[in-house]
Amino acid sequence: MNRERSNQLFEIAKTLMPGGVNSPVRAFKSVNGSPLFIKKGKGSKIWDEDGNEFIDFCASWGPLILGHTPDSVVQAIQQTVVYGSSFGAPTVLENQLAELVISSHPYLEMIRFVSSGTEAVMSALRLARGVTGRDKILKFEGCYHGHADSLLVKAGSGLVTFGESTSAGVPDSFVAETLVLPLDNELAVEELFNRCGNEIAAVIIEPIPANNGLLLQRKEYLEFLRDITIKYGSLLIFDEVISGFRIGFGGASQYYGIRPDIITFGKIIGGGMPVGAYGSSKEIMQNISPEGKVYQAGTLSGNPVAMAAGIAQMKACLQDRFYESLEKKTTDLVKVIKQHIDYYELPVRIFHIGSIFWIAFSRFKHIRSASKIDPDSMNYFKKMHGYLLEHGIYIGPSGYEVSFISQAHTDEELERAAQVFCDAINIALKK
Ligand code: PLP
Repeated sequence: MNRERSNQLFEIAKTLMPGGVNSPVRAFKSVNGSPLFIKKGKGSKIWDEDGNEFIDFCASWGPLILGHTPDSVVQAIQQTVVYGSSFGAPTVLENQLAELVISSHPYLEMIRFVSSGTEAVMSALRLARGVTGRDKILKFEGCYHGHADSLLVKAGSGLVTFGESTSAGVPDSFVAETLVLPLDNELAVEELFNRCGNEIAAVIIEPIPANNGLLLQRKEYLEFLRDITIKYGSLLIFDEVISGFRIGFGGASQYYGIRPDIITFGKIIGGGMPVGAYGSSKEIMQNISPEGKVYQAGTLSGNPVAMAAGIAQMKACLQDRFYESLEKKTTDLVKVIKQHIDYYELPVRIFHIGSIFWIAFSRFKHIRSASKIDPDSMNYFKKMHGYLLEHGIYIGPSGYEVSFISQAHTDEELERAAQVFCDAINIALKK
């Protein structure tokens, strides 16, 4: 594969931006490589600056549920931008996207639009703290919630609930307000709540953790979190930046039939444009400024062009059998890979839900917590990733990242991709 131009561009980018990128994972560091510079996308495919073609399963890390440049979204953007790209004043498009989402979601009464998933989560936590008058939050090892200070915290090595920061620049005093526990462990949560439940403003979880592998949780565990937060007067926040509108329109909340207090969104809701959102009941949302005392604002929040893209994408998601069709595409692909793994009894697992899948180099039947992922298994991933790229398949350049299937992936493309995945797994495992 010719990567000359991508490599040249990366060399230039490194002199201009830290690590040559605007978001770390894009640098291909986990696969010891250098990134491809992408020129264009259409449907399930992307093309890099050297003209190489790939079937894309990264999908911009999740937003592109319709594939690249779907006509309806492109038209909506084009038609809107000619009227103006931003006003900093209300537009009818904000009403339309809000109505569309609220009317088809089982647990939302009000929503606030922001510009990224990080902003949505950061604002949701402030809201939870404002509503409860408490400071502490509980998060789980293996969930990612964006890069707000209080969330760049992982379990410390000593007493498990005292976290340590995963980034320089985060004050210890912020870290002290963030408690961290492993996933899939009711007892640990119970002990923590016994000790300081009355200080915990919110428990935040990705109900379908998809940032550290795909750590599918037991429904009973999520129900347990719902019950214990109610018991102690803490709020339950489902971070659905990935799972929202991906696992059905109502996301993981609807899938598991659990009503969280606050839900955060990003990715799909913006149709590929920078949109995040958080929503809840009217009672809780009325605490936000200008109605309430919790301040949160944004120059480009509810941006008209981004709203138009979101509306077009949400309408497509609401079409009859949209999610059934996506799930079928996914199970078809997964089935072929799984048969291959089972037939040759390979030490590999493929986990999937809705239109998300993740290949793990492991023999564990279930991987529900971060500690069950062997870091050494990433060496296999690197080889698999290299083979996939060479054979026209683009997935996220890290073994901890999941892959996404879009409406644009055709059956033939998925058949071809399945075969390449099987070959890539063989190559990865070769001594
Ligand atoms: N929450 C979850 C579950 C995410 O997956 C992400 C990003 O991947 C975020 C929050 C942060 O979103 P953003 O990258 O838009 O800031």
